[in-house]
Parts: sequence; structure tokens; C-alpha cells
Amino acid sequence: MKDKISIVGAGLVGSLLAVILKQKGFEVQIFEKRTDPRKSKALEGRSINLALSQRGIKPLKLAGVYETIEPYLIPMNGRMMHSKDGDLTYQPYGKEGQFINSVSRAQLNQLLIESAEAAGVQVFFDHKCKDVDFKKNFIVFENGSKVESDLIIGTDGAFSAIRKKLQITDRFNFSQHYIEHGYKELCIEPKDGNFRLEPNYLHIWPRGNFMLIALPNNDKTFTCTLFFPFEGSPSFDSLNSIEAVNSFFKEYFNDALELIPDLADQFFNNPTSTLVTTKCEPWNNNRSILLGDAAHAIVPFYGQGMNSGFEDVRLFIEKAEEMDWDWDKVLPSYSSMRKKDADAISELALHNFIEMRDHVGDPSFLKRKKLEAQIQEKFPADWIPLYSMVTFSDMPYSEALRLGKIQKKIMDDVLKEDNPESKIDQAISQFNALKKVD
Ligand code: FAD
Repeated sequence: MKDKISIVGAGLVGSLLAVILKQKGFEVQIFEKRTDPRKSKALEGRSINLALSQRGIKPLKLAGVYETIEPYLIPMNGRMMHSKDGDLTYQPYGKEGQFINSVSRAQLNQLLIESAEAAGVQVFFDHKCKDVDFKKNFIVFENGSKVESDLIIGTDGAFSAIRKKLQITDRFNFSQHYIEHGYKELCIEPKDGNFRLEPNYLHIWPRGNFMLIALPNNDKTFTCTLFFPFEGSPSFDSLNSIEAVNSFFKEYFNDALELIPDLADQFFNNPTSTLVTTKCEPWNNNRSILLGDAAHAIVPFYGQGMNSGFEDVRLFIEKAEEMDWDWDKVLPSYSSMRKKDADAISELALHNFIEMRDHVGDPSFLKRKKLEAQIQEKFPADWIPLYSMVTFSDMPYSEALRLGKIQKKIMDDVLKEDNPESKIDQAISQFNALKKVD
């Protein structure tokens, strides 16, 4: 346990990993390109929030930091769909008592960095990694410093500097794909000190090729995110005047428009950001490895980017314990075990965009969800809906994807029947048979 471990990137994944490795007795240091957020006041200004669920909570508990974070979470019990006319439809995420949590990304990051420091991890801000020598195990920073380590872990996000260095090593595969949609965040301010929408839901305005969502913050604001094409009509390109933005919102998101009186200001002042999927392999080279977004960045539509990164941390630690911390075995073994699950959640996330923007408002989708809930209620041990397998369990993502595909086929068939409810027993026997032999 005397190994010196260097983690590049004090984001969500890097700081959580540092806490646990330090607790295991290693000498751990993190190098972060940003200035200390506590000094730069990064916490002030726009709130960006994320949905935290089971796969993320389990590693936070393992690190003993969940109790510190829990008071900052806002439970979201289900989706609240807003129709064009402002009608609301509620759809629970899971069984009674199952919910996901809205959390401020900056707040969570700060709590994790503070937990790492409290555990004895040295955190070096203003250290931007610019080079890595994978053979001699050292990192070079833009400020001229150079650090040697027994293990180098790249948790430096979707545009990882460590991954860029791996890209110029032999037999390293890499791909990236930008979807044709980008996103823009907008804020719904509180009114008379209160939330302007019901806080315990994830609000969605599904509109076919685009959508708006809103998640609650502790300061009683909501962060809205518009997922929208860059080009075409309508698109970020076509909304090029105050009038165009206002009349577009009036037509598609009228009830939200009423809650954002300074919409045009926000629309033209807040940045428009891209959405990328990256895949690469192998994640390891000699004594270096990538975790979190650096290894597998995904689109945000399943709310699993951070959750899967936290799960990486748990599985990496479990693998290391199982292999007695022999890094030469742990690194390749963890990477090859985890890759198929990263690919699976990447596929699920892309698919869930279509479900969220296109289907959630459909009566046929709601009918499907209702029937699925009935099947689950009657056979709770046999049938767990795909969303619940991903969000409320820690079953491997690849297994959830496989079972979800079988379920979809069965549901498609059952829903063609005149009386689908009468086919529930048949659906379950079919599922139990197929899941074994598939
Ligand atoms: P990051 O959080 O990106 O951290 C990387 C760190 O590395 C940063 O601190 C960065 O400054 C630092 N760094 C970068 N380059 C260098 C360098 N060269 N040297 C030193 N340091 C460096 N996930 C969810 O689970 N639920 C959600 O609801 C959700 N919603 C999302 C919504 C949107 C719009 C987006 C874009 C993402 C969302 N995600 C969500 C995904 C989530 O934000 C990421 O998966 C998560 O932040 C990844 O954590 P990370 O630590 O791997 O990377």
C-alpha cells in the first residue's frame, strides 16, 4: 500500500476515487487544471444539476461520503410531462419509494474534493496535464512540473489529455460521435421564495425532434435544458432573433415561457453546447488507466454519465482488492470486464433520447408503461422494467440491455392483442424462457 498514485482530473470521478484509494492506505495526489473552485467562486452563477441514482449512490456509500451529500439531494419521483396545451401527466420512475435525485454538479464536486482533502489526499489545482510517458510513468504539466508515480489514473473527462496521448500509441482504438442536437441551459427563478414548478419531479416538455427538461435546485430555481438541433427548422440556427425565440417558446413551451420572463436574454447569453459519445480501448497502458468520461463519454439522456463513472470507481476498487492490488493484473482485467457495459450504456443513452423527446407524451407509450407496471407488480422477481434495471439496480448495463431487448419484443407482441392484460402470464413465461436461452 506504499504505492504513489497520481490522479489527473479532480472532477466527480477523480475526487471520489481519490477518497477510497487514500482510505485503502495509498499515497494519493490529484492534479486539476482548474483553479480551486472555492477561490474562483465557480459555485456562484448558473447551476448545472445532475440526476444521481443507485449506481452512483452505492460507491458514495462505500467511500463513506453519502451522508455528507444526502442533505443536498432533491428527490424526483417521476416524470411530469407538459403537453403543448400545458396539460400535465405524471409517470412514476419505478415502484413506490423509488426515485432519482437532483444534485448540483458544482456542489457535489466541491463536497467530494473536500472529502478527499479530509482523507489526506493532496489536491494540486492549476496543474494542467500536457504529456504522459506511459513507459516511465511520469506526467508533465503545463506549469513545467513533472511527477513520477507507480500508477497514473486519467479521470480528466470527455476531452481527456491522457486519452489523447494514448491515441498516439500503437493499437489504440478511438471513436467520437457528435449528435446533431446541442443543448442550452436556462433558469427558472423562484417566485416569492418558492419553486415555480412542483419540485419533486423531472419536468419534460417532449416535442418530437426536440425537448425541454427541468430539474430542481436547492436555491428553489429550476435548471431547464433545451435539447435542440443545431441546424434545420426549428433549430439553434433558425432561432436568431428575440421575436423568433419568443414565438417558438410560445408555440411549443408556452407554460415554461411564462416562468422565464427574461427568456431571450438567457437564450442569447448562455452558451450552446455539443453532445458527444466517445469510445476507446484499451483503457490501460502499462501503469496508466482511464476511468469515467475519459474512458467512455455518453450523451446525458439516461442520466447515467456520472453514475456510470462512480460505478467504475467501485468496480475498479473491487477488482483491485480481488487481485491483491497487483496493478499489472488489475488494469487489463478491469478494462476488459467493464468495456462491454460502457458500450451498453452508451447505446441505451442514445436510444433514451428518442424515448424522452418522442414517446413519453404518447398515449401508446403510457399504455405500455402501465402494462409493464402491472406485469412487474404481479411478478416482481421476474420482470424488472429496463429503466429500473438501469436506474435502480447495479446489474451490469450489458445484461440490462440484453434483457430490455427481449422485453421490448414481448411487449410489442402483447400490445397488439385486443386484451393485453389477459396475456400477462403468457408474457412472463415467454420472458423467463427467452432470458435463459438468448
Ligand atoms: P468531469 O466531471 O468532466 O471531470 C473532469 C475533470 O478533469 C475536470 O475537473 C477538468 O477540469 C479536469 N481536467 C480536464 N483536462 C485536464 C487536464 N489536461 N489536466 C488536469 N485536469 C484536467 N450524468 C449523470 O449521471 N446524471 C445526469 O443527470 C447527467 N446529466 C448531464 C447533463 C448534461 C447536459 C451533460 C453534458 C452531462 C450530464 N451527465 C450526467 C454526465 C456527467 O456530467 C459526466 O458523466 C461526469 O461529469 C463525468 O465525470 P468525470 O469526473 O469523468 O469527468
